[in-house]
Amino acid sequence: FTPWESGNAKPFIEFRNVTKRFGDFTAVDNLSLTIYEREFFALLGGSGCGKTTMMRMLGGFEEPSAGEIFLDGQNLAGVPPYRRPANMMFQSYALFPHMSVERNIAFGLQQDKLPKGEIEARVQQMLKLVKLEDFAKRKPHQLSGGQRQRVALARSIAKKPKVLLLDEPLGALDRKLREETQFELMDLQTELGMTFLIVTHDQEEAMTVADRIAVMDRGRIIQVATPAEIYETPNSRFVADFIGSINLIEARVASRNGTVTRLKAPNLEREIAVSQPTDANVGDTVWFAIRPEKIRLGFDAPQNGTANAAEAEIWDIGYLGDVSIFHAKAAEDLILKSTVANITRTVERPISWEDNVWLSWDEDAGVILTR
Ligand code: ATP
Repeated sequence: FTPWESGNAKPFIEFRNVTKRFGDFTAVDNLSLTIYEREFFALLGGSGCGKTTMMRMLGGFEEPSAGEIFLDGQNLAGVPPYRRPANMMFQSYALFPHMSVERNIAFGLQQDKLPKGEIEARVQQMLKLVKLEDFAKRKPHQLSGGQRQRVALARSIAKKPKVLLLDEPLGALDRKLREETQFELMDLQTELGMTFLIVTHDQEEAMTVADRIAVMDRGRIIQVATPAEIYETPNSRFVADFIGSINLIEARVASRNGTVTRLKAPNLEREIAVSQPTDANVGDTVWFAIRPEKIRLGFDAPQNGTANAAEAEIWDIGYLGDVSIFHAKAAEDLILKSTVANITRTVERPISWEDNVWLSWDEDAGVILTR
């Protein structure tokens, strides 16, 4: 268990009822959030949802219109950016073009008037950490995008801040380098024992690097949870739809019996039995949400007696290499997606267009969403 899951972790960054207005526009709306020490935390949301504004308030580049922000027990109200134990790495990297790599890294330390020997030692340590020892004398324009990004990273951690704020740090990198760097960031964070806060609109990136994620929409937090919880048990259609691919079926609660809730979808013949907990009541209109990889495909009706099955016709097939995505038409207005791993070969013969198939899934495979 990570400390924040066991309840022993120290609250480190606290937003308490924070609102930020620009004129009459509310960018962050009465938002409260606790981030724990040594956590790698991601703020995830679409463009304009307020994630950068949250980070800028923490860094001291914006003041909240209402509410308070605490860092390591200190109220940050009125504390200027350079006095905050948080350092921000900007999207643009903002390196000094005329300075060498080592001078870029040393810059902040010189401003703080650290002894010369210590600056040199710290620069060497940082160069080693980001694997740029051989590039110390180069200027930023003599580096690749990924190397520049690592210089910016080295510079922002050289002062050993308690918190590193990363605003879309990998946006300029190509996909491959981006994936590599994500793992490097995770290693670095563990090695340094710092708290990392990353802002991203890329759900895969947030899922990869973060211990916990806050999913934001229009200045509010919709769900805060681990990547697995966000994926497996989203709390709303917004989160379910934002992360990965999902089937959403509108239905009515037909009955509740112990742990099993039964749903009736207008376009499905059989009821859907769900064992995941819900607070929906009989008669409520809800949505049944299930990930495509949780839906099995086969030519025969499932034999094990579970109620969760539907006949369908294959409408589309997408071959992605590791998996294939099947679009299966279960009713006139209901196409369900099923993702099948190509390695498992669960079907007797290849499934092709217009085949009649059976879709089936377990009672705990999907969740009931009430909003
Ligand atoms: P993106 O991923 O596009 O950077 P974001 O979630 O980081 O989006 P923010 O930069 O936090 O979004 O902006 C939130 C909202 O506040 C946006 O609608 C933006 O236009 C608005 N906003 C941000 N800064 C200002 C400002 N200085 N003056 C007026 N409006 C602003």
